[in-house]
Amino acid sequence: MQEPELARFDVVIVGGGLVGCSLAIALSGSGWSIGLIEQHSPELAPPGFDDRNLALSRASLLALQRLQVLPLLDTPPESINAIHVSRAGEPGNVHLSAAEHPVDRFGGVVVARELGHALRRRVQQCTDVAVWSPAKVCSASAGMEDVRLQVQRPQGAFTVEARLLLAADGSDSPLRQAMGIDETVHDYAQHLFVSVLQASRAHQQCAWERFTEHGPVALLPMAHDRFGSVMAVASTDAEAVTALSDDAYLALFQQRFGWRAGRFTRVGKRSAYAMRLRVAKQLVAPRFALLGNAAQTLHPIGAQGFNLGLRDALWMAQLLGEQHARQAQADPGDAGMLQRYVAARVEDRQRTLDFSDGMARLFVRQAWPVRVLRAAGMMLLEASPLAKRRLAEQAMGLAGRLPRILQERAQ
Ligand SMILES: Cc1cc2nc3c(=O)[nH]c(=O)nc-3n(C[C@H](O)[C@H](O)[C@H](O)COP(=O)(O)OP(=O)(O)OC[C@H]3O[C@@H](n4cnc5c(N)ncnc54)[C@H](O)[C@@H]3O)c2cc1C
Repeated sequence: MQEPELARFDVVIVGGGLVGCSLAIALSGSGWSIGLIEQHSPELAPPGFDDRNLALSRASLLALQRLQVLPLLDTPPESINAIHVSRAGEPGNVHLSAAEHPVDRFGGVVVARELGHALRRRVQQCTDVAVWSPAKVCSASAGMEDVRLQVQRPQGAFTVEARLLLAADGSDSPLRQAMGIDETVHDYAQHLFVSVLQASRAHQQCAWERFTEHGPVALLPMAHDRFGSVMAVASTDAEAVTALSDDAYLALFQQRFGWRAGRFTRVGKRSAYAMRLRVAKQLVAPRFALLGNAAQTLHPIGAQGFNLGLRDALWMAQLLGEQHARQAQADPGDAGMLQRYVAARVEDRQRTLDFSDGMARLFVRQAWPVRVLRAAGMMLLEASPLAKRRLAEQAMGLAGRLPRILQERAQ
């Protein structure tokens, strides 16, 4: 039997998904000793490193550039230069063009798997981050001075003590539960099908969001003139849609989306995800904070989930860097530090939740007064440069107060 080990760190991150890795990279060089624990081995990529296409905001691209992650991507992000939003069966649509705002692009599209591998490669370059992977946190308990974790890895169990525990352990967040933080949950009763589509027309760097009574359909521009597509269906229909042949799936997608992007000719592998909104009622507990999907899991329409989680990570890294610089005997997990994190996240978090959840719920409603108001709202939005600028800022991740790494805005 192996002797249990004990490891001590200032800051321990649990979860080496997209947000946990981004956090480790952003924290590197801050002066704190940092540990990162991920239950999947680098060879067996975590579930979040899959085929989904991620629309990264302009702000996220800028941050990932400054964190030296973008150069490690196998395929550079495909630019989004225009965004088109419409509601099937209703007049009015909104068209945003990057040139009008004026920027060279609103953001870019990457495959989650490729971003995940680039982040992992970058983490390996950070010599002040100790990585355990595969290693699974089995229990956690907070004391006055630190948090104790029991960690299981193939070689045996060991104990980790941290003065601050950062949970980026995903939607189910076992640590959120262990720390007794409750969540609110809304089931959208939708499944989202994700696949790559080929169309008869070039995508011209345009992202499309089309709302239907069944839920949203969206297209993201990808390399080689392909589209990353998502289509929501009622959860009760998910099994039947999974069983469709490729031709039948293309016909359904064409019917839901319409013909604006041309004729859809080919579809790749399909994956389906159940859609639920999950929001932690608190972001912190003694010596503990939540980030990314562990803090909030959003409907993917509006493409805000990782972008918001990355901003959680950027703020946490900035505040911890300031905390280290403040005093010689600084404590990364003291109550003041945690309250500064809450204060930094409250407004962005609420605005982004309202934006994403509002879109997901408003556009499925069928009552005629809602339809009339919605169509009028779309027309007003299209006619209002100020409202369009606000929408563009939200899409670019540049609304509200920004962490320092983003303050020098890229033009
Ligand atoms: C279909 C779809 C499309 C999306 N499109 C977009 C988009 O266009 N733009 C956008 O910004 N966002 C998008 N998102 C959201 C985005 O994918 C997520 O917000 C993001 O991946 C969350 O990353 P995370 O690191 O917080 O969580 P996760 O990816 O869930 O990572 C959590 C990690 O913690 C690890 N872990 C859990 N428990 C333990 C434990 N006990 N011990 C050790 N490790 C543990 C897990 O193995 C995992 O690797 C989309 C989501 C979906 C489903």
